[in-house]
Amino acid sequence: MIGILLLAPCIKVCIKCNTHLLETGEYFNFRDKKKGLLRPDCKKCQSIYRKEYHKNHKKEHKEWSEAYYKEYILREGVREKRCENTHNWYKKNIDHVKEYDKEYLLKNPNYRIDYNKKK
Ligand SMILES: [Zn+2]
Repeated sequence: MIGILLLAPCIKVCIKCNTHLLETGEYFNFRDKKKGLLRPDCKKCQSIYRKEYHKNHKKEHKEWSEAYYKEYILREGVREKRCENTHNWYKKNIDHVKEYDKEYLLKNPNYRIDYNKKK
C-alpha cells in the first residue's frame, strides 16, 4: 500500500491560477533542475507573466541586450566562432540560399540598382 502511494504522481496547486496539476516538468518549469525543484506557478501562468513583462520592459531589454552584445562579441574567440558557424551554415544550406536570393531578386527587381546607388 505504501509503495502504491509513493508511485502515485503528486498534485501541485499553481499559486497564481489555483489549478490542480500533476507535479511534473510537463506543467511546471524547473526552479532548480539538479535538485528537481519546480517553480510555484504553472507553465501557462509563467508564459503570461513573461509576455506581460516583455511588453512592459521592451526598452530596458533592448538596452540590456545591446550592451551585452557589445561586451559578448569582444570575448576571446567569439567573433571567429561566429564566422565559422555562419560559413558552415552557408555551406550546408547553399541550395536554400541560392533559391532565397532568386526569389528575393524577383520580388525586389531594383535591389541591385538601389544597392549600387548607395555605394
Ligand atoms: Zn497557473
